[in-house]
Amino acid sequence: MENVDKVIVVGAGPAGMMAAIKAAENGAEVVLLEKMNRPGKKMLITGKGRCNITNVAEKQELIRNIPGNGKFLYSCLKAYDNEDVQLFFLTLGVPTKVERGGRVFPVSDKAADVVDAMVLQLHELGVKLITDARVTEILTEDMEASGSDGLEKAVQKEDSHSQRAVGVKLADGREYQGHSVIVATGGMSYPGTGSTGDGSRWAVRLGHRVVKQLPALVPLETEDEWVKELQGLALKNVRAALLSEGEKISDMFGEMLFTHFGVSGPIVLSLSRQAAQELDKGRFVELELDLKPALTMEQLDARLLRDFEKYQNKEIKNGMRDLLPGRLIEPVLDAAYLKPDRPVHTITREERRKLAEVLKCLPMIISGTRPIAEAIVTAGGVDVKEIDPKTMESKLVKGLYFAGETLDIDGYTGGYNLQAAFSMGAAAGNWSVWNN
Ligand SMILES: Cc1cc2nc3c(=O)[nH]c(=O)nc-3n(C[C@H](O)[C@H](O)[C@H](O)COP(=O)(O)OP(=O)(O)OC[C@H]3O[C@@H](n4cnc5c(N)ncnc54)[C@H](O)[C@@H]3O)c2cc1C
Repeated sequence: MENVDKVIVVGAGPAGMMAAIKAAENGAEVVLLEKMNRPGKKMLITGKGRCNITNVAEKQELIRNIPGNGKFLYSCLKAYDNEDVQLFFLTLGVPTKVERGGRVFPVSDKAADVVDAMVLQLHELGVKLITDARVTEILTEDMEASGSDGLEKAVQKEDSHSQRAVGVKLADGREYQGHSVIVATGGMSYPGTGSTGDGSRWAVRLGHRVVKQLPALVPLETEDEWVKELQGLALKNVRAALLSEGEKISDMFGEMLFTHFGVSGPIVLSLSRQAAQELDKGRFVELELDLKPALTMEQLDARLLRDFEKYQNKEIKNGMRDLLPGRLIEPVLDAAYLKPDRPVHTITREERRKLAEVLKCLPMIISGTRPIAEAIVTAGGVDVKEIDPKTMESKLVKGLYFAGETLDIDGYTGGYNLQAAFSMGAAAGNWSVWNN
């Protein structure tokens, strides 16, 4: 096979661009193939166009914020962490700043600056970036066929790989050959940006297991009409618990939003990964809102009593204005079986108790998630058990590397997904050269 010093990278997202940069820094001749008409289309819309590059959290905290196989990333995060990412961009002329929750953004607040800096660096390192180049196939050879002498064959016998990657084929029939192929084609969300799950389809053909791909960081749909009627209402400092078949499996504290189809906002997005998985198993999924998480039942009852004394001659819908946003009062009263026009002084102790229970635990039925195309990330993908966590090389196909969201890796919002993509890309880029 010719071109033995060449690394082929498929997909010019953050993982692929970082892989290409690292391979080129190590002296390899690198070809980066991108099927869209420009690199980094998804990156341009990250962080609402501001690109939340990474998070300043400690390594263990980074891993905790990547519920989809964060521990797999330990080695590559150790080799290339959030400080390396910030230094990398500073060196490229993109200084960063830290915002609420440790989120790191470019000082310019422009995702385009981040993408442009990476593209410029690719050019400076002599990487051949080819756009409108849709890869359709990973080319492989049997390991026996690729050995040129007896010694090499003997070494290969020790190896678990039965095939070796030798290049890629494009939709237009062109072929590119190299000693290593790095697949960084992303997940399945926002397909208009180019990520349509191609990498996981090739992985299956090459014998890899792919964990079912489901939406994560995605809004949830509800059956309850009252939820949809609250469209546009945002709540702060609430706790949402996720229940599967009546059992609480997770909860989150923070902000959420009512929409025309159900619920969204930070805490809902964080719970959505597990909701999608439970729904996929055919389970009954609910969300319970604690509207007053800072108060115990007793404290809340005492608070209601105080408000009821103050507003004893009013209708109850007007007696709760100090406690809840106006639009939320009727749905809460409805869940507590209280008519909104009941005079406050007629509410019994039991009814007040029931009202407190509803305020601590307002249920809604989750009927589904929004489609994967609307998800911020994809959970599932190429099974990490068949990937070397230090090098990102496939344990099945020699010279084949995976990096980024095409793998079964996904994190919460806060810069964790891009950090994961950069760390995996750096590992794959370095080791595609060092392993050769
Ligand atoms: C709206 C939105 C906002 C986000 N905001 C943030 C944020 O602020 N911070 C954060 O950490 N994460 C954020 N994310 C998640 C983050 O963007 C992704 O996790 C990250 O882009 C994954 O990087 P990747 O390189 O693996 O894949 P991608 O960025 O998806 O790149 C894959 C590339 O491969 C190309 N490709 C695919 N198939 C082929 C093929 N057959 N041939 C050639 N090329 C191919 C695609 O065109 C694409 O350019 C956001 C995601 C979305 C959708």
